[in-house]
Amino acid sequence: MSRIVYVNGDYVPEADATVSVFDRGFLMADGVYEVTSVLGGKLIDFDGHAVRLKRSLDALDMAEPMSKDALLEIHRELVIRNDLTDGMIYLQVTRGAPADRDFAFPGPDVAPTVVLFTQSKPGMAEAPAAKTGISVISIPDIRWGRRDIKTVQLLYPSMGKMMAKAAGADDAWMVEDGFVTEGTSNNAYIVKGDKIITRGLSTDILHGITRAAVLRFAREAQMQVEERNFTIEEAQDADEAFITSASTFVMPVVEIDGAAVGAGTPGRVAKRLREIYLEESRKAAV
Ligand code: PLP
Repeated sequence: MSRIVYVNGDYVPEADATVSVFDRGFLMADGVYEVTSVLGGKLIDFDGHAVRLKRSLDALDMAEPMSKDALLEIHRELVIRNDLTDGMIYLQVTRGAPADRDFAFPGPDVAPTVVLFTQSKPGMAEAPAAKTGISVISIPDIRWGRRDIKTVQLLYPSMGKMMAKAAGADDAWMVEDGFVTEGTSNNAYIVKGDKIITRGLSTDILHGITRAAVLRFAREAQMQVEERNFTIEEAQDADEAFITSASTFVMPVVEIDGAAVGAGTPGRVAKRLREIYLEESRKAAV
């Protein structure tokens, strides 16, 4: 079935969903994005994604294309028009399509480009990988210095996934100055005893919406959380490891650079956090 895609105010069949070749998203990766999960036809953490979108736009001096309520309306309309039960809604805003390619930003007369589309993933909350855990390799983090802005410059994370695939692993954790920054498209955590350890927020990592929710739920459940840097060696030596993102929720990591983490199977804390996250997020879904 062909999807219905939102492009600049219109809902169109995907074959008709096009943007200009002069679009700065295409020419300069001058755009930002969000991915919001849908479970049971409802949006998970919509508010968090809307707030981060605004933060990304502000950081790049881009105007908000519409209100949060208008964005929510489009998300809901896409769920309905595409009969989406479980999956994701991808949203991208670029600085638009000026007449010529130019490094300087165009003036306010150039409208942003706004595109949203759905990706169906039936049963995504029951992903088999959550039962077995995933493996990661470490790679150097050579991305730019504003990783807190969710831009569409995703070439290196894509290369990281390909490096992982070539090594027979599921994903890669990036390392800078000896410490893990984050996964290619997720935040990274280790567990020691009952303590959950994850890198603190800065311009070095994306401020994950799932990260914020999971740490809140962990603290509410009286679990200890320590926001600090950790190394690959410390992670290999930890009792557990896991990642979080909007599309994987909480996913156990059972192998790092070929070394088993803990027993080499999903750990108690990661499993519990996944349950809590899914339960609470479904309750709060809109
Ligand atoms: N870190 C990076 C680099 C990401 O690309 C993502 C998600 O795409 C995340 C972390 C997790 O963020 P969220 O939980 O908001 O999906």
